[in-house]
Amino acid sequence: MSFVSEFNSLPLESLVKRSLAANPDSIRDSLVKSKLSLADFAHLISPAAGGFLEHMGRRSHAMTQQRFGKVIRLFAPLYLSNECVNNCKYCGFSRDNPILRVTLSVEEVLREARSLAAEGFRSILLVAGEHPKFVSNNYLRDCVAALRAGWPGISLEVGPMEAGEYRPLTAAGADGLVVYQETYDRAIYDDLHTAGPKKNFDWRLETPERGYAAGFRRIGIGALYGLADWRYEALSVAAHADYLLRNCWKAQITISLPRLRPCAGEFQPLTHMTDRELAQLICAFRLMFPDVGLVLSTRETAKLRDGLIPLGITLISAGSHTEPGGYTGAGKEKIHHTERGKIVELAAGASEWAATPENATNATGQFQIADERSAEEVATLIRRLGYEPVWKDWDAALTA
Ligand code: SF4
Repeated sequence: MSFVSEFNSLPLESLVKRSLAANPDSIRDSLVKSKLSLADFAHLISPAAGGFLEHMGRRSHAMTQQRFGKVIRLFAPLYLSNECVNNCKYCGFSRDNPILRVTLSVEEVLREARSLAAEGFRSILLVAGEHPKFVSNNYLRDCVAALRAGWPGISLEVGPMEAGEYRPLTAAGADGLVVYQETYDRAIYDDLHTAGPKKNFDWRLETPERGYAAGFRRIGIGALYGLADWRYEALSVAAHADYLLRNCWKAQITISLPRLRPCAGEFQPLTHMTDRELAQLICAFRLMFPDVGLVLSTRETAKLRDGLIPLGITLISAGSHTEPGGYTGAGKEKIHHTERGKIVELAAGASEWAATPENATNATGQFQIADERSAEEVATLIRRLGYEPVWKDWDAALTA
């Protein structure tokens, strides 16, 4: 049995209706419980619970400090490659987008990593599009092995694999796996993923379990808000996290809350979640899952992040680039187009999504970030909020 069979039997439509119809009494009843059900979670993300946001925020803040202490962990994404065989309508890296592409060599990855280490980072998220030719398993293993000595926290956000394919990566030193379902609405998922292996909804949905079986000790999940009804997505993520907590209990589970940002291809969000609803959702996740890590990326503006962090966030990125070579310009001389898996030389001015002059490389980013502050500026902000910025919270020696 996997989460797929549990997911298929979830009464998600009726839980959304329950949420939309929740009243102050049902919300109060849910708020006094020590352990929340999915129905209680539906109440906490309801329109009516918007009136309880201050109360939920105070409880969420206190619960987070009790479980995690006054610390915020920092990590940086390092994009290895923007090659991809999938067409995901909402993503700048989609196969058919005429963007500027590159895959960094292991040496270039180390150059990018050294730049991040100089800023203080010790936890890194290696991100790549899904392309077996350019981003092979051996390539990923070599990147992880090269980084292992200097990076106590190495997570992967790459194309889903079989457990047996993940094992060389965990053996090489990768300890975290991040895989967003993007949308848990099957019909919308099918419409948005027009080509490539990612079309297989169930295969993706089972990925965290395969990663756990392969030995990853941190598993990150989430939905990309802006594709389907946000309450439907949030209920699905909550059910997924609940399943993983019961079945993958040795791993630390994290939930990310990314909202869609502008990208190549100019895809427009299909649904909207307000800033206030995002704050409400952070609180609801915390009250439902006291020990789950909550992740906030640079997709949100500096001002909003400053306000959301104390509500229950435990892990944030900072100073991020979403293009390979974005920190140092590594790989700049190899930029190209890719057509049907073949590298095509660039014509001058070939892409309107070419990077702006202030960027280090001309490779196209996955999406535009909104919080452009440096890592040090974000660390200073964290201290000002009364937290300690944590760059490293694990060492491989602890597992020996
Ligand atoms: S979302 Fe991932 S799989 Fe889809 S096009 Fe972008 S990089 Fe490729």
